[in-house]
Amino acid sequence: MTPNDETVGPPIDRGDETTSDKDGLALHTKILIGLAVGAIFGIGLNFMTASNPGANAKVMWVAKYITDPVGQVFLRMLFMVVVPLVFASLSVGVAQLGDLKKLGRIGVKTFSYFMLVTALAVMIGLTLVNVVKPGVGFSPEIQSQLMETFGQEAEQKGAQAKSDQGFGINTFVNIVPRNPIDAAARTDMLAVIFFALIFGIALTLIPREKSEPVQKVLEGLGEAIIKIVGMAMQIAPFAVAALIFSTTARFGWSVLQSLLWYAACVVAGLLIHQFAVYSVLVKVFANLNPLVFFRKVTPVMITAFSTSSSNATLPTSIKTAEEELGVPPQIAGFVLPLGATMNMNGTALFEGVTCVFLAQVFGVNLGITEQLIVVVLSVLMAVGTAGVPGGSIPLLMIVLDTIGVPPGGIAIVLGIDRILDMARTVPNVTGDITAACFIARSEGTQLKTGAGASAE
Ligand code: ASP
Repeated sequence: MTPNDETVGPPIDRGDETTSDKDGLALHTKILIGLAVGAIFGIGLNFMTASNPGANAKVMWVAKYITDPVGQVFLRMLFMVVVPLVFASLSVGVAQLGDLKKLGRIGVKTFSYFMLVTALAVMIGLTLVNVVKPGVGFSPEIQSQLMETFGQEAEQKGAQAKSDQGFGINTFVNIVPRNPIDAAARTDMLAVIFFALIFGIALTLIPREKSEPVQKVLEGLGEAIIKIVGMAMQIAPFAVAALIFSTTARFGWSVLQSLLWYAACVVAGLLIHQFAVYSVLVKVFANLNPLVFFRKVTPVMITAFSTSSSNATLPTSIKTAEEELGVPPQIAGFVLPLGATMNMNGTALFEGVTCVFLAQVFGVNLGITEQLIVVVLSVLMAVGTAGVPGGSIPLLMIVLDTIGVPPGGIAIVLGIDRILDMARTVPNVTGDITAACFIARSEGTQLKTGAGASAE
């Protein structure tokens, strides 16, 4: 008997939208095909029309009037459900855990795991960037060219960083919303999470006959939302193709060429974290075969890669963790919304590498103490980063400022940020699922190790 047996319950039939289709081709295979088709056409047409402005304008027309709208409809379907999903799953998760001691224990384990694994990610990034030194001897001509091209965009991000008021005591005060509806309308996820946690705790403290109907309504809400995600996933193969086409067709490959070593450090770090570190973590802490784990989370990884958004991927993460991996709903409902907002391993790694790279470019010497400050700040900023495309850039500028690197220098990397954003969002969300598996296992749940198996 495991502590969670009484609450796990039978798997809920939500249809098989994310796993298979009538013609037998699994949905995630179709999404992968969409990804490949979008990338091949986007990259191909980008190169073929590079020296032909007329043809290039036609490609941009297709991106603007066909693929952008298709991609946006899909993204909006996912974003549309995030706030109600976080509220419903987190408050029900907390209410179902039932006892505050258990909540405290799971809370401490979850936060400790988030912080330690995020710090580890930054250290991997810092090791790579200190060994490869991509910014040492960086061409001054390319530097000023990039500063000129992306300077204005950098200024806008800087203004956003200023309006975020940096990182200080108010960052913590603002977690408590004055008005939860206003926080929800601004997608201020930390405030929404705070309200949902308090609401869930309150449900456990009032008489059962009063709390039960509310819980039932919230459970129904959660179910309906997961169903909406299932509907959205039906168009995922086309939408993913469209999103990837739009990005790759517009992408400035020549910018990537000049930043090749920097991008290589970021991507190599992300790959090590995603496939080496997470393999060890799921094996050691969740007793899962890494190959099985990665096969099951493939739809989550693809959604993260194509949307560049932890928030947009959250519904798919919850569905996959519960249905494919057997994480109990109350644990998935607690850990995953928190993770989508606070646990960004890929983002922290990217921030660490970018800080040191730009310090190298600007000739700012970062000793061991400064690099430790980079580790701490990258972890904290990753907690505060919004799970949306490019969410980390304004906060990264604050870190740059703190360590004495001109924040406007971010312009140097902005040209390739979209691609790096896609790449870093994958470990961001995969890390949340490893955390949910670890917590589930540590609370006595036997995770699903094979297709359809319910116990080991
Ligand atoms: N796009 C990332 C996410 O949603 C955040 C970032 O690093 O910009 O997880």
